[in-house]
Amino acid sequence: MTSSIYIDGKWRPAIDGATREIRSPADGTLVATVSDGKIADALAAISSARTSFDSGLFSSWSWKERSVLLTKIALLLERDIEIIANLESGDTGKRIIESKYDVADVSATFRHFAKLALDHHDRVLDSGLPNVTSKVTYEPIGVCSLIGPWNYPLLQISWKVAPALAAGCSFILKPSELTPSTAIHLIKLIEEAGAPAGVANLVTGSGAAFGDTLTTDPRVDFVSFTGGLPTGKRIIIKAAETVKRVALELGGKNPNIIFADADLDVAIDFAVTAAFLHSGQVCSAGTRLIVERPIHDQVVQEIVRRAKQIRLGGPADLTAETGPLISENHLKKVEEYLAKGISEGAKLLVGGTRCTTEKLSTGWYFPPTVLDDCNTSMYCVQEESFGPILTVEVFDTIDEAIKLGNDTIYGLSGAVWSRDQTKCERVSKELRHGTVWVNDYGPYKPQAEWGGFKASGNGRELGEHGLQEYLEIKHIWVNNSPTRSGWFADKN
Ligand code: NAP
Repeated sequence: MTSSIYIDGKWRPAIDGATREIRSPADGTLVATVSDGKIADALAAISSARTSFDSGLFSSWSWKERSVLLTKIALLLERDIEIIANLESGDTGKRIIESKYDVADVSATFRHFAKLALDHHDRVLDSGLPNVTSKVTYEPIGVCSLIGPWNYPLLQISWKVAPALAAGCSFILKPSELTPSTAIHLIKLIEEAGAPAGVANLVTGSGAAFGDTLTTDPRVDFVSFTGGLPTGKRIIIKAAETVKRVALELGGKNPNIIFADADLDVAIDFAVTAAFLHSGQVCSAGTRLIVERPIHDQVVQEIVRRAKQIRLGGPADLTAETGPLISENHLKKVEEYLAKGISEGAKLLVGGTRCTTEKLSTGWYFPPTVLDDCNTSMYCVQEESFGPILTVEVFDTIDEAIKLGNDTIYGLSGAVWSRDQTKCERVSKELRHGTVWVNDYGPYKPQAEWGGFKASGNGRELGEHGLQEYLEIKHIWVNNSPTRSGWFADKN
């Protein structure tokens, strides 16, 4: 779709006419050609969103009307699940079934915010004075720049688009340059559901070309970003000049702690999934296995055995269990990361070399990889690879397990495995991560907040807080029978 920029209710090409090819990371085939937006397109989208917001047309809809809009979008997502799953798998190379799970989660996100909007009300306070009414109201924050990553393209932007619409904001959506197809489809559904022109705007193209425009323009009130730490830091700095609100969902280096008294069969099975699902391209991937010393050998041997069995392939391969990395650039970064880990003393147990078999040679495949003998001074333990690389550390005491789990600049998620409830409670309380799983790994709910401590970001998406980020709070004090205050004497 070479007219994939959507501004003020109209699809259009990039102002300079440029286009960009989207190729499947699974086999290099052309899956889409989209408009390659630049600064001029971003400025036009911001103008549209600002005009729309300032007109009050959408922000004055009642919470109930906006809730109905969100429910309609959820229904349309469910109607188009096959189409959307194919688009998502085309761009990302992930299995169709995984894309379908994602679409279901996206629809659940819209339903969650529809319900929150329906239940939303102002807070009436006791003013303590008979002639005064006092209430706290919630208003849309204004124009939002919504910027998403490539790993869960539609899911991550839905955590922004749904609350923005629920709150009555107007927005400019910027999906990753690598994975724009489902964002384009989502905008079509928002249009079909009846959002007024100018509320939802979309610019496809590269962050390097116009990302700064979205985060510096004074007409933007709020930036919600999901992506890597370096881009997140840049956005904070850029947005500071105009004191924009900023919400950041960044990376993670997530500890998965297994005690010797855990149900090892289950813990090992989940450890494999936590590390290698979507080939490790998951912000909450359990990439740091922290295992109690007496069970180290048993756990690691079993994980290696299981890792060797994982079948890689693209969306067309129905036997595949996980897909490719997103791009050649990313594959090279994962290779460099691994080489650094090995040079620092980590022991490679399985994987480690890009896949070159005939079946996989046209895509960007990297096999499940395990590095043993790791410690927290190593780059591979501290930094996110965003690939299928699991590092292994050992501990002897619960204090040490907690210390290791917190010895990271990140704080997105973590897990603890043990049959001892007291131990689990202590670890889950003391881990400084935004989500902690006990005897489980990975589930989340739209009703629960998601986000990171420390360098994993600020703010929270989903839950109730995920709506509050899109709201300004105002206290309105009404004196129904004003009289003079008499504070200063009137001497005349
Ligand atoms: P990224 O390189 O930081 O890019 C994220 C988005 O920012 C993309 O749309 C990118 O556009 C855009 N961008 C690039 N430069 C920009 C600029 N100067 N201003 C504004 N936007 C700019 O991250 P990624 O590689 O797509 O995603 C992987 C990262 O996301 C990982 O670190 C992962 O942990 C994190 N993530 C976190 C969560 C969470 O919930 N905490 C969820 C998913 C992913 P282009 O693509 O066009 O360059």
